[in-house]
Amino acid sequence: MKRTTRLLAVGISALSLLLLNAVRVEAQTNDELKDMRDLLGGKGAGVAEMTRAGLPVPTGFTITTEACNEYFRIGKKFPEDLWNQTLAALKTIEEKTGKRFGDPENPLLVSVRSGAKFSMPGMMDTVLNIGLNPQTLEGVARLTGNERFAWDAYRRLIQMFGKTVKGIEGHKFEVVLDKYKAKTQGKQDTDLTTDMLKDVVTEFKAVYKKELGVDFPDDVYEQIAQGIEAVFDSWFGKRAVDYRNFNKISHDLGTAVNVQTMVFGNMGNDSGTGVAFTRDPATGEEALYGEYLVNAQGEDVVAGIRTPKKIAQMQDDLPQVYQQFVDVANMLEKHYRDTQDLEFTIERGKLWMLQTRTGKRTAQAAIKIAVDMVNEGLITKEEALQRVEPMQINQLLLPRFDEKAKKSGVFLAKGLNASPGAATGIAAFDADTAEEWGKAGKAVILVRPETNPDDVHGMLVAKGILTQRGGATSHAAVVARGLGKPCVAGTEAMRVDLDKKQFVANGKSVKQGEYISIDGTTGEVFAGQIATSTPDFEKEADLVQLLTWADETRRLGVWANADYPKDAAVARKFGAQGIGLCRTEHMFFEQVRLPFVQQMILNANEAQLKLDALARAESDLAKRPDSKEFKKAVAEAKKAVKASVAVKTYKAALAKLLPMQRKDFEGIFKVMDGLPVIIRLIDPPLHEFLPSHDELLVEVTELRAKGNPVAHAKTKGRPQGKKSKKLKDAEMMLAAVESMREANPMLGLRGIRLGITYPDILKMQVRAIFEAACNMQSKGVVVKPEVMIPLTGHVNELAVSQGALEEVAKEVMAKKGVEVEYKFGTMIEVPRAALTAGEIAKYAQFFSFGTNDLTQTTFGYSRDDAEGKFLLRYVEEKILPANPFQQLDRTGVGQLIQMAVKNGRATRTNLEVGICGEHGGDPSSIEFCHHAGLNYVSCSPFRVPIARLAAAQAALEILTNYLQGDVK
Ligand code: PEP
Ligand code: MG
Repeated sequence: MKRTTRLLAVGISALSLLLLNAVRVEAQTNDELKDMRDLLGGKGAGVAEMTRAGLPVPTGFTITTEACNEYFRIGKKFPEDLWNQTLAALKTIEEKTGKRFGDPENPLLVSVRSGAKFSMPGMMDTVLNIGLNPQTLEGVARLTGNERFAWDAYRRLIQMFGKTVKGIEGHKFEVVLDKYKAKTQGKQDTDLTTDMLKDVVTEFKAVYKKELGVDFPDDVYEQIAQGIEAVFDSWFGKRAVDYRNFNKISHDLGTAVNVQTMVFGNMGNDSGTGVAFTRDPATGEEALYGEYLVNAQGEDVVAGIRTPKKIAQMQDDLPQVYQQFVDVANMLEKHYRDTQDLEFTIERGKLWMLQTRTGKRTAQAAIKIAVDMVNEGLITKEEALQRVEPMQINQLLLPRFDEKAKKSGVFLAKGLNASPGAATGIAAFDADTAEEWGKAGKAVILVRPETNPDDVHGMLVAKGILTQRGGATSHAAVVARGLGKPCVAGTEAMRVDLDKKQFVANGKSVKQGEYISIDGTTGEVFAGQIATSTPDFEKEADLVQLLTWADETRRLGVWANADYPKDAAVARKFGAQGIGLCRTEHMFFEQVRLPFVQQMILNANEAQLKLDALARAESDLAKRPDSKEFKKAVAEAKKAVKASVAVKTYKAALAKLLPMQRKDFEGIFKVMDGLPVIIRLIDPPLHEFLPSHDELLVEVTELRAKGNPVAHAKTKGRPQGKKSKKLKDAEMMLAAVESMREANPMLGLRGIRLGITYPDILKMQVRAIFEAACNMQSKGVVVKPEVMIPLTGHVNELAVSQGALEEVAKEVMAKKGVEVEYKFGTMIEVPRAALTAGEIAKYAQFFSFGTNDLTQTTFGYSRDDAEGKFLLRYVEEKILPANPFQQLDRTGVGQLIQMAVKNGRATRTNLEVGICGEHGGDPSSIEFCHHAGLNYVSCSPFRVPIARLAAAQAALEILTNYLQGDVK
């Protein structure tokens, strides 16, 4: 098949057409602009547009992105005819300017710049002054009457060409320049004399020859050909590839090459060059923002060789040009209907526009500009919603480092950006210390190899959490996100030593009590204290306005995962329309409750055996009420229950926990007045509430050694063979933990399996939920409890448990004389549940996709280990398109979701369906949920604003860039 590649025909024809017809500026459709950007790159499209608008733009042409792709396709060779077309295009420029390329009498000089579809600042190459050689240099000197200028331009060409086209290290040229600058009075490049510049050129040429073994090319056509090739090659340069990977920009877009007549800002004090934004890119304020330099060429502004002046200063220095520039800036902003990032040069008092592109901006600026532009009538509300990246909202609401202050920290390591926001504080290596210091008012960062439920009390008071191991759904990450605290997890480059209470990273050690700073948005860890600031949502008027528009647009509901009333209050403030997941076990971890929870667990097994025996005997007797034998069995079983310490302790523990849970739920119902609240019954394996097996083993071994009769007979005189109470307790706990140990606890006795094994725990929870609901309803609060059963895999699990739980609910309501509106439903967290959703929906009135577990069980990846071990590498090497624990895997997990929604609704048309895994706060996953027809997404409170915007964007169908491509 013959490929028809558009090399530069479009560039030329567009440009020549545009040059001849200075048309008035008119808004283009987004599609037209997009096509131009695809083919000509952002810069080329901008230049073509400005030319068409009749603005002063140096004549030039653009080699298309298709030519670049073709260059790579045929093995890094110029595509057929590219060179001929380039020569023809140069001729066109020659005709328009009256100058000729390589002509010593009237030389044409050009710049060669890259320009991809998306701006990739600083990633690719620019070469200025192409066309200079010893002969044309004379011509430039003569025509400008400025020999110094000509030599300066020549040394710049050799320097830029050597560095960007040939890859010579920049400093090899800079040392030469510095040597000569040091000889001048002012020590600046502008102070170099003509003679000095001649010497610089000689030395630059020597550097070039030494490094490459060949002379700097005098042939101007060779210069331009190599320049074009270098721009092409820079597309796959390491920096550019890394940038695209990071920003999820496709590698097959290619770059365009812009060739433009040179204009010179370094021709004296009536010349200059600068960059400016039409609005402040940091704050969004409507004011021209930028810098410029008098008597300088483009790269001087960015290179920081001299300190540029504020753009407003130009009003005094060059008033006429300034006014013209202001008019151009306003016109371009109106034309593109967005903030523009402009580059310009003034050559002897004449303004030349070199570039216009969409200005990059901070989150704050993006939101303000979008809202302002709607108010100015420049864009629609829908467009405003498209102008803000949902994740940018995070930056606005979470504590962040002051950018300047960040420089004061010493970089230590980079981990997984598990929960966004910035925090600074003293390092504490155990939860007790963190709690003690936190309560004493100190800012603490809890540092652990990884966290577990025992650490929660420390996490609650810590400003941030740093772990060596664990991924995006590790305990630390999930809890931190729920609490809205920054967390850097899986920091494998750091070694935590709990014995020494220190960690080592990047060759430095940080001891307990020393300051560290973590940035959960970037995953960076620093030594030292870095100042942070926290914004107030309600005061962010522009954001609140934008989200109101989002609410008018979206179809998906946005709910929140919240375990405590205070989290629910935050969620509601952020706009949550319900609680999609209240993990009840998190409440068990509180220190005052843990002893009762442990009593409940330690006695559950034995108590349940006795209770089950009684239930069996009673059921037998019910079948044959006259049976003496069965009567006796019931009496014995009753006696055994009554006499059992285990039953007593178990029931007492449950009775203690009931009012505590009831109080929690009352608090949540009150905050969520009128909105649905999904409460999930206990889910994790019970051993999670007990001390760690390994630590217990060490403790028991040590206690046993201390209690060694021989050793102690001499020292302490403890009676031989008598165990201390501490040892007895530790042994008992160890035995209990050992009896509960499982090879794969995540696949073990948890979720509804646990509930079926110990039904009284679930009954206690349901009782607490409905007592709380009735109490609150009696006080005028509108309650909508939804009881969620976790980890169902087979419909029979619901068949045997749900009825009994509903009985408890009904009994409570009857006793209280209150009827509340309620639902019973389940999580869909294992593939079998998704596959049999049609059956499960016979019982479940709602589904909530627990995509943390569903991802774990679909991929077969351990959610706590995968990221630290291989998953991040998989993502880096593109074996996986994204981390499936952060961004929903549409093809696999997504397919299960779609199937479950369809089959579930086939059984129960009004089935309520949502998602409560971590994906519920991820914009790409939210887009998927919108299309899969879910009713709502549920995410941590701090992600609610993000989800509101992402859901609106999904409804506008503009998130196509989030779609995962096939892996190549
Ligand atoms: C899930 O699995 O997605 C979920 C929300 O439950 P958890 O993270 O508590 O296992
Ligand atoms: Mg789960």
